[in-house]
Amino acid sequence: MNANFLQTPIDYLKGVGPNRADLLKKELGIHTFQDLLNLFPNRYLDRTQYYKIAQLQQTNAEVQIIGKITHIKTVEQKRGKRLVATFMDETGSMELVWFRGQKWIRENLKLNVPYVIFGKTNYFNGSFSMPHPEMELLEAHEKSIRSAMQPVYPSTEKLGNSGITNRVINSLMQQLFLESKNNFVETLSNTLLEQLKLVSKKEALFNIHFPKSQAHLARAQYRLKFEELFYIQLQLIRKNLIHKSKIKGYTFEKIGDNFNTFFSDHLPFKLTEAQKRVIKEIRNDLGSNAQMNRLLQGDVGSGKTIVALMSMLIALDNGFQACLMAPTEILSVQHYNSLFEMCKKLNTSIELLTGSTKTSKRREIHEKLENGELDILIGTHALLEDKVKFKNLGLAIVDEQHRFGVEQRSKLWHKNDYPPHVLVMTATPIPRTLAMSVYGDLDISVIDELPPGRKDIKTVHRFDANRLKVFRFIKDEISKGRQVYIVYPLIQESETMDYKDLMDGYESIVREFPLPEFQVSIVHGQMKPADKEYEMNRFIKGETQIMVATTVIEVGVNVPNASVMIIESAERFGLSQLHQLRGRVGRGAEQSYCILMTSHKLSADAKTRLETMVRTSDGFEIAEVDLKLRGPGDLMGTQQSGVLNLRIADIVKDSEILKIARSYAAQTLKADPNLASEENTPIKNTYAQLGKYRNIWNYIS
Ligand code: ADP
Ligand code: MG
Repeated sequence: MNANFLQTPIDYLKGVGPNRADLLKKELGIHTFQDLLNLFPNRYLDRTQYYKIAQLQQTNAEVQIIGKITHIKTVEQKRGKRLVATFMDETGSMELVWFRGQKWIRENLKLNVPYVIFGKTNYFNGSFSMPHPEMELLEAHEKSIRSAMQPVYPSTEKLGNSGITNRVINSLMQQLFLESKNNFVETLSNTLLEQLKLVSKKEALFNIHFPKSQAHLARAQYRLKFEELFYIQLQLIRKNLIHKSKIKGYTFEKIGDNFNTFFSDHLPFKLTEAQKRVIKEIRNDLGSNAQMNRLLQGDVGSGKTIVALMSMLIALDNGFQACLMAPTEILSVQHYNSLFEMCKKLNTSIELLTGSTKTSKRREIHEKLENGELDILIGTHALLEDKVKFKNLGLAIVDEQHRFGVEQRSKLWHKNDYPPHVLVMTATPIPRTLAMSVYGDLDISVIDELPPGRKDIKTVHRFDANRLKVFRFIKDEISKGRQVYIVYPLIQESETMDYKDLMDGYESIVREFPLPEFQVSIVHGQMKPADKEYEMNRFIKGETQIMVATTVIEVGVNVPNASVMIIESAERFGLSQLHQLRGRVGRGAEQSYCILMTSHKLSADAKTRLETMVRTSDGFEIAEVDLKLRGPGDLMGTQQSGVLNLRIADIVKDSEILKIARSYAAQTLKADPNLASEENTPIKNTYAQLGKYRNIWNYIS
């Protein structure tokens, strides 16, 4: 079908007048024939199958059952009347329930005559019921003709109220297919169609809208999901390849004294296999002539710092400078302190630059940086100031990636002639499928192994009623010399309430843990930065035993002596936040604990979150559960939601298809980077349209 036909304004479709056109545009973003064609049903009503009552499952799907009403009664309840009918087939009985229109139904329902009923079932106390079933006498049902699988299209309240019902959309779709003669251009290559046994574009489009059977529908969905994911991956991988061929980087050819001496004489511990693998991946990147653009994922405590240092040493060995940027002052200071110790043993200069660096020191750093005396610079956003000019920055490392926007990252780039290699480190595990979709254009390294001898953090869930026991436990731990975090939620919408909770909590803790025996710190977002810093430092130095805080406690802060993490109102935290918070403990030699305090009222999701935390400390496993609970959009924030604005595929449910799509996209580009072969012409043509449209389906047709 030629593209012009599909670009015809929707107003020209028979059955669409100016009013309907307007509504379709406003409500569903349908401007052209193509937009309508790519309006895929959300779901289908399966009228091909009939269930027996005894076969019903506790799912929420629609079912169709043949049976008779044997009895009907009105039940009075506090909340109003309802009409209840007993419905039976030869395998059992269930109830049909009406809350509205009871009079009419009561008068028109026939007893002991076969009906076909259709609707969603509820399960309660061992029996099923169906509220407001669609009903038809079996006799009439058998005479009527209907497509077996009925598509249900996305809709809005306004559309429904304006008479553009599902039935109307359905007939418009029929009209569109009639006019187009289902003559749609193939968008994948024959090789892909054959190798993956995919149905043609024509067949897929027809069956997504008018499925002949479950099997036809499944093949159509598979093909369209594959296609959607394939083109996203093709774009991402191509971007990565272009980046590699176009953006040259400094080639760090040698591994020299700094790296070798450190490796042979000063390694404070044996590297884990994962650390070795990641260092190798980074070394390969740095040794090629393309600029490295790599994301390093590793759970809290997995040992990313040493990887950062060894990467920086490679830069130094090749005559370049390196920098490490962290999101907060405290984190920068901690990085600086631990790296300073290690650099001292090598002949390497290292400095710290933050917002509170004194002017004279600052000037000294600027100077040494420009004349090349300084090898490594650690710091906060202060590194991005215009005055900070490197002589030859070869490697920039960014810790805790999601606190920095892309803009800030690229600012670092423009510090010298060539862009430095960039390593972004994050402690937030991102499920593989999500990483593929969102960071598919970056190279990804994963440290999926914790250093040996790490004791698992004992995690328990306690109800508020057990608070006294928890206090006793805290006292025991403090008497052993340990320190304790107590964290309160701070959720924007209820800020005032949250502060009240925090202050009430703080007061009760001070009462329970009085001076002079106990010292309690408090840190929250309404404090001045200097005061926060002061309190944090008191805790870091061990002057206070308890740190009461909102979630402002810094990501990545390292207080090895803190061995207990109490999370108040834990049901209000998200999984990744709980995991991050728990990561604050378990950093020393002692057994650590995480206690999740909640009220008795817990939603199903909250229960799943708590059970997950108690069951596992594997960040990737937790991230997978989080992805399933929240969906990809929420997980990544709005920033990248564009990439995830999928029309038919679902990166959680279709993760297998995603992997296949990525691997075929990579293979296709490897064999034919410019998609120049005749075979790949359909892909090339489709790909060429990619940039032109907002949504991936606007060009796939
Ligand atoms: P993160 O990935 O959270 O930044 P760090 O680099 O801070 O983790 O490492 C956490 C702790 O584990 C540090 O005290 C570090 O010295 C230690 N560590 C890192 N790698 C190893 C290893 N291979 N063997 C033993 N201890 C290690
Ligand atoms: Mg770290």
